[in-house]
Amino acid sequence: MARSLEWMHDDTALASYHRFAKGIAWQREWASDPDRLGEVSMTSDDDLKLMSQAIALSERCEPIDPDRHPKVGAVIAVGSTVIGRGYRGSGSPEDDKHAESVALESVPDRSHLPKATLYTTLEPCTQEVRSKPPECCTELIRQSQVKKVFIGILDPNQGVRGKGLWELQDKGIEVELFPPELAREIRVLNDRFIRAQQTLGIRFTSPKSGETIKTTGPREGVWEFRGDFINPPGEDVIAFTSQGNQWWPQPYSLRVTNLESKQWAVKMHFGGCGPHTIYIVRAGELGIDLVKYYRKVTHRMQQLKEKLKGHLKVQGKDEEEAFLKKLGGDYVGIEMSRLPKGLELQDAIDIVVE
Ligand SMILES: [Zn+2]
Repeated sequence: MARSLEWMHDDTALASYHRFAKGIAWQREWASDPDRLGEVSMTSDDDLKLMSQAIALSERCEPIDPDRHPKVGAVIAVGSTVIGRGYRGSGSPEDDKHAESVALESVPDRSHLPKATLYTTLEPCTQEVRSKPPECCTELIRQSQVKKVFIGILDPNQGVRGKGLWELQDKGIEVELFPPELAREIRVLNDRFIRAQQTLGIRFTSPKSGETIKTTGPREGVWEFRGDFINPPGEDVIAFTSQGNQWWPQPYSLRVTNLESKQWAVKMHFGGCGPHTIYIVRAGELGIDLVKYYRKVTHRMQQLKEKLKGHLKVQGKDEEEAFLKKLGGDYVGIEMSRLPKGLELQDAIDIVVE
């Protein structure tokens, strides 16, 4: 949706926002003191123009991954005079600056900031998301002593939503939201980002699909897989390895290795070599119970195998291989042609195990 700054000169549209803003402010005044009339503070035409400018700036963003990186614009103004502006980077490691931070840096004379208002299309981030103070927007806003912040939309990620607003208010900064018509425009612009934030967004990052992994050596048959997420995986997120119709639920759930950079890892066990497909699934109630049961049975079988091995005095690699062959393999997989209901696919890769 292309949106130009021409809109700001459209008197009809402005007048409708004006009426809306006036309505809200009036109701608020009325609620606080029904006798006091005539002294109504309201979102001004200037505010609405500056909010629209922030939205227009956000349209310049070119996120490399629209599921993970939002389009955000920010404008800083004293009254109706713009003193700074910025928009979010593409999300690559070299270009991952947030709009508020870019806008604050662009202000030539920082002594004006205590009189200034910041208009940002997305709720500023907190230290939970960006723990380094020079990168955390609520912290930068506090340091800048900006007087007031207008927020376009709250963060669509449920784990983050509202924390930035709360943090700013906690630091004594006045906070208001853009009117719903403008918020709707921001939501349309960030449609993919908003939808992706409702999911776990779990992906493999290493190894890549098509790669060959060598599981020989001291940790024979074991390989650590890594990936990233949008929302942290819980106990219900499980890995499977498969070869053809044989599927092996893995003994451990995914573990979060870095909450800030949203990384997970899981060690997977391989009973044999050759091409494998690796699946990450989210298990429903039934799926979880089945996997728990399978893990219990496998554990029992391993114990029995060790006992039997001791009893038969199996020694050396050749004897062990012959023993396993007689036993019918190390781990018995589950035979199924595809993922059953109750196991919801998150991501899958094909690899070759050597
Ligand atoms: Zn930020």
